[in-house]
Amino acid sequence: MRVAVALALLGAVAYEGYEVVESPGSQLFGKTLVSGPKNQRVVALTYDDGPNPPYTGELLSVLRTEGVHATFFVVGRAVAAYPDVVRREVLDGNAIGNHTWSHEHLVLDGQSSLRRTLERTDRAIFDAAGVHTRIMRPPFGGRDWLVLGEVRKLGYTPVMWSVPLANDWEFPPARVIAARVLRYAGDGAIIDLHDGNRGLLCARMHVAAHECDRSADVAATRLIVDALKRQGYRFVTIPQLLRMQAATRTASHASE
Ligand SMILES: [Zn+2]
Repeated sequence: MRVAVALALLGAVAYEGYEVVESPGSQLFGKTLVSGPKNQRVVALTYDDGPNPPYTGELLSVLRTEGVHATFFVVGRAVAAYPDVVRREVLDGNAIGNHTWSHEHLVLDGQSSLRRTLERTDRAIFDAAGVHTRIMRPPFGGRDWLVLGEVRKLGYTPVMWSVPLANDWEFPPARVIAARVLRYAGDGAIIDLHDGNRGLLCARMHVAAHECDRSADVAATRLIVDALKRQGYRFVTIPQLLRMQAATRTASHASE
């Protein structure tokens, strides 16, 4: 049954059907964090698929120079290969999220392998940087009710994004990435860029060099941060965004 549904989601459903069901904002399969409070001048920068030297390090330098923090949804196998990069992400004040061990589509996984991939990644993050994360992002945004149920049971908040993806994996120039993001970035927005490519160990595998080149994302980050700062935005991590959202909810309950 589940396989049939997965296949329907992945293939047979018409493109528009897929957009509705698996779109980042869809809550059909359970609650995910899609954006922060809409009444506050904050945005969250998030980066998936790393760590990926040297680009992740360059990105960290930009964030440090700009004095802003981001959230890195890291892939376990890359964490194990480049623990120093993850340690620096944390030491710089950035947040870490779990993006599975090898960037698998979770809808195709059984519950036990879903648990294994998240736990193995959690261990690698802890070994690298001494922290546990309680946020995760499903690779490809792929999820269903079983995936989200299991993810919640393991204590994770699943995190999607609100700004349409900039298709940065197609290697557009930095100004194109920045323009695509800035067009939709608003109060409480979650921006999703990539500092890696599905956690590939580019330096160690036979991967074409350009497959791993994220220099456009690094340059786009500088453009995005500068533009949003001029518009009065503050940059928060996903855990900060969750705390703000919880506080907003408490305040609105109190005033009811
Ligand atoms: Zn990913």
